[in-house]
Amino acid sequence: MAAEEAKPAGGPSKLVIRNIGLLLSGDLQKPILDADAIVAIDGRISAVGRAKDLDLSGATTVIDAKETALAPGLIDSHVHPVAGDWTPRQSQINWIDSYLHGGVTTMISAGEVHMPGRPKDILGVKAMAIFAQRAFANFRPNGVKIHGGAPVIETGMSEEDFKELGAAGVRYLGEVGLGGVKDGPTAKKMVAWARKYGIQSTIHTGGPSIPGSGLIDKDVVLEADTDVIGHINGGHTALPDDQIRCICEGCKRGLELVHNGNERSALFTLRTAKEMRQLDRVILGTDAPAGSGVQPLGILRMISMLASLGEVPAEIAICFATGNTARMRSLDCGLIEKGRAADFVFLDKAQHSAGKTLLDSIRLGDLPGIGMTVIDGIVRTQRSRNTPPATRIPEIAAH
Ligand SMILES: [Zn+2]
Repeated sequence: MAAEEAKPAGGPSKLVIRNIGLLLSGDLQKPILDADAIVAIDGRISAVGRAKDLDLSGATTVIDAKETALAPGLIDSHVHPVAGDWTPRQSQINWIDSYLHGGVTTMISAGEVHMPGRPKDILGVKAMAIFAQRAFANFRPNGVKIHGGAPVIETGMSEEDFKELGAAGVRYLGEVGLGGVKDGPTAKKMVAWARKYGIQSTIHTGGPSIPGSGLIDKDVVLEADTDVIGHINGGHTALPDDQIRCICEGCKRGLELVHNGNERSALFTLRTAKEMRQLDRVILGTDAPAGSGVQPLGILRMISMLASLGEVPAEIAICFATGNTARMRSLDCGLIEKGRAADFVFLDKAQHSAGKTLLDSIRLGDLPGIGMTVIDGIVRTQRSRNTPPATRIPEIAAH
């Protein structure tokens, strides 16, 4: 009896991916794996290796990668969702689905700050965070995982409030500094309470992003001691280089570089982290939707920018948007290893790129083309509608 016939209806799903031309792991220590096949059972990676060594039988879906590259689905560490797949900031719909066409399979909210009429009273802040956490846990456009419900701290919040938020399932704070708390001592106290109850934190670094937001300088950033230094390259207005260096050297926290920031400062931060041999601290975000709109290709653009101008190999730049973020944010995706979520993006050099290979094309500053995305072991998109066309694209060989 064929394995497929033996499988009971509604039984386990088995995804087999073969003919992978380049397997990018997301792991800084070993960014390229000596493997050409992946097996995923029920949405989790169960084996990675050479096809000849793996059990590929009984697949419910087979993808022939056609020698293209496979990387973990990209993670955007800094988005500002509001509700559904819509942003009131630029009155745009389907932006999350567009991001998936840019390879982003997971996003982390840095605060639902564009909610029209956003409540600033403490009960309202908590209610909105819990609402957004629940809503985005239940709503996944085309499978994209949105970690929403990131309260922006306001003066007067007590330890009990953070305890309540943590118990309700809130896992991330919105950017410190976007609400009423803009001073170091108050931020430090609340960030520590958040951490105590299992809530990670980030901070708005640099000048005001839009009228009404404020300046957060290196002293506040270092005192607040958030888990992630949100947009250390400014959002958009960056701190002076000496302050950025102070932050890099003055703590061990995550260094987040965003698309909607100062690109020169992003390169300065990258060079500083490289000198310090701490590239594992570098993670990427778009900081969108925002005044600069949304950037479906923002994470890819950051990867190409950092690899071409920042003198890091392309396969390392991809780790900034995958394994680094997954480890720092305690996510179960972002790395090609057994047990992780089967979230993948298939890449190839764009048609007519001057680069000889995918990695070479990124080194030259071109964007890669995306041929397919997979989330939880399920094919979500085929040839991207947003990237330049990939030279080769994977095919679903059997279903
Ligand atoms: Zn910000």
